[in-house]
Amino acid sequence: MLKDVFDKYKKMDFSKILKLKKETKKSSVFKSDEKQKIDFKDIIQKQKNNIVKFINKKEEDDKTLTILIEDMIKEKYSLTGGYGDLIANETKYAEFVRSLGYEYYPSYSELSQVYQDTSFQLTEEKLEFCTTMYIITLEDKKTKNKVLGVRDVVNLDFEVLSKFYFTKIVVLGEGVLSSVFGEDREIVFGSNNDTDNDEEINKYFDKMMGQAILLGASDIHIQKTNRFASLWFRIDGIKVDMGTMPIALAKTLKRRLVTMADQEDSDYESINGVINYEYGKKNIKFRLGLINSKLNFSLVMRMIGGRGVVAHNLRGLNYPAETVDILDNLTKYANGMILITGQVGSGKTHLMYALLQQLAKQQQYVVTIEDPVEYVDESFFQIDLSEYASASEEFKYGYPEAVVDILRQDSNIILIGETREPETASQLVNASNLGQLVFSTMHTNSAPATVSRMTSSLGINEGDIVDNLRGIVSQRLVRKLCEFCKEPDGEGGNKKVGCEECSHTGFKDRVPIAEVVRFKIGYGGDFENPAQYMTVEKACKAQYHEGLITKEDADAIIKGEEVWYD
Ligand SMILES: [Zn+2]
Repeated sequence: MLKDVFDKYKKMDFSKILKLKKETKKSSVFKSDEKQKIDFKDIIQKQKNNIVKFINKKEEDDKTLTILIEDMIKEKYSLTGGYGDLIANETKYAEFVRSLGYEYYPSYSELSQVYQDTSFQLTEEKLEFCTTMYIITLEDKKTKNKVLGVRDVVNLDFEVLSKFYFTKIVVLGEGVLSSVFGEDREIVFGSNNDTDNDEEINKYFDKMMGQAILLGASDIHIQKTNRFASLWFRIDGIKVDMGTMPIALAKTLKRRLVTMADQEDSDYESINGVINYEYGKKNIKFRLGLINSKLNFSLVMRMIGGRGVVAHNLRGLNYPAETVDILDNLTKYANGMILITGQVGSGKTHLMYALLQQLAKQQQYVVTIEDPVEYVDESFFQIDLSEYASASEEFKYGYPEAVVDILRQDSNIILIGETREPETASQLVNASNLGQLVFSTMHTNSAPATVSRMTSSLGINEGDIVDNLRGIVSQRLVRKLCEFCKEPDGEGGNKKVGCEECSHTGFKDRVPIAEVVRFKIGYGGDFENPAQYMTVEKACKAQYHEGLITKEDADAIIKGEEVWYD
């Protein structure tokens, strides 16, 4: 289905869409004068409707134009980083904007042959605004028409543009920006910056924030180790290095951000809060997370309300209804430990994210500690341990250290990516004892085996398990009958047939077989007396009766036999 949309989009004539875009814009701007209010919301809505109509998409699909364009970029320009990559690549970006029907100017001298820069006429307020947004006001030398020069045409913000009077938009190359806004537009930090000078700091700060927003970064990271401080953005889930900065500057920026979040800085405590940043007319919120550890720190600002990369939904994971009910109930505990176990590739992460997203929707503050972060999710605060691998040797930062830090914050839910050694296990119990609901994964093959692993090799005493363990999910994935060709087997389930869709194997995709046990409070690990228990046998039968797996596979798993897929 989605592929059809892409194909249609690829075949589309971009100048046509842009003409639609421009015509709506032009006519309304022409008709009005500067004093008249332009209804930009209406224009945006019309423009969206036009595009939706054009590509013949269903209304419930809430993909925005930006996302469609990003998809197109990935397909047509084969850039994995999406739009962020494209705008950073001058040649490809020029080609892209020209194909949209815009004029593109690589250098200031070329621009000034056709247009005159009218920035000097702007009020100080407007000029400052233009500087942060990388906008230049221009006048056509021949027609005397007002023109706006912008860098980013995909994320055109009509509310922002409504501040200006113009009849046309042209696109500025990196060369123009460098000439107008200074050679140091790229975030390059000199080594002799005066960190006591507020104006200097403001300049760097706005540059950093402006560029992150312009590039569509989901988060901004500043990390200080003993030797240097570095800045990087995450754009489309990819780490983009922005260079190093002097340690003094990193410290000053950190203090400023902590103050903006209404928190007190400390060299030992971890801090989290929310930062409001004015960008153009918009107020953009960032979630600030700061981990201080002796002389080093790691600071993350995640944009709130951006779009998540992957949506995980409990109901879309093919669990039987009874299993979904137990999983739902597990998320209702206020504290305790919930363990998800299985082999590599058993769908543990998908389940975990689905559970956490459900909790985040209930206004719980979810913190994850992962190594590395598998899916960027803007509804959580994520700590990526793999980022610390390059830090100095004295600065050891792993699961146990991160849990200690997180416990000082006001989180409710913690995900500890993986528990494989006693130190992490004891922090897991510790967090649960301190009133957190803690999730973690382990590599065991059954729920009972998980409990014995905890007491034996992980060194947790039985009393702690009894008090804290709330539930275990132990799962594996089993081949799923092909939806296109399966047929009733006459025994209450389905059997395999084979068709083109499944390459004549009769199977397509996989479904989870999950053993799920929910313990009563104070009875952790008591399999004789559980609150709810979906055994492997029940799970296999349920998936068979749902018509998802074959009787042979169900029987083999119940008997404890290995099921081969290929
Ligand atoms: Zn088939």
